[in-house]
Amino acid sequence: MMIPLVNPLNLSQTCFRCAELVRNRRRIVHGYGDANADFLFIGEASGKKGADLTGVPFTRDVSGLRLQRLLIRLGLSQETDARCESPRLINCYVTNLVRCNPPENRNPTHTEIENCQPYLVEEIQRILPKVVIPIGNFATRWVFRKYRGISSEPIMRIHASVFEGTPFTIVPMKHPARISHRMLAEIEAALRQFMASLQS
Ligand code: SF4
Repeated sequence: MMIPLVNPLNLSQTCFRCAELVRNRRRIVHGYGDANADFLFIGEASGKKGADLTGVPFTRDVSGLRLQRLLIRLGLSQETDARCESPRLINCYVTNLVRCNPPENRNPTHTEIENCQPYLVEEIQRILPKVVIPIGNFATRWVFRKYRGISSEPIMRIHASVFEGTPFTIVPMKHPARISHRMLAEIEAALRQFMASLQS
């Protein structure tokens, strides 16, 4: 059986819980990649110039290109060109906290995050990742509250830090739209170290 690139877990494509996002979105964008992945990246929401157009999280826009370059360098993507809009990921799954594009790429509201979280929880339950990389403040706050029962510190303070624990290790990452070369190198080093620990 052919496994679809996007939404391999076959989550619902007919969701109308967030009225404003339903009016604004071009499509619902669920996660994609390896459904048995050790590495799970979680962004904030589908981007207006990226996933909302391509249907694939973290493609086409600046954030997408930066994340795809990182995945290629880490060996988590089979591609060699970060502009590929149907990346074949290896041991890696990429998704978002909110699956529809908010107007003008505004921040998702508390209600929208609550509405959409069952999809992310289901992805996590089925993938059972060893490490989760929440991208940006919203995804980081959600992951710490949901899976550690605590508030997280601001992303600027904990970017590329490694938080071991159950049910997975957490390595927060600053949003690639606003990341420096130094911070990209830091997250790459932290994830390489985690990869090495998996192999030892
Ligand atoms: S953001 Fe999530 S919960 Fe809201 S309409 Fe889209 S898919 Fe449904």
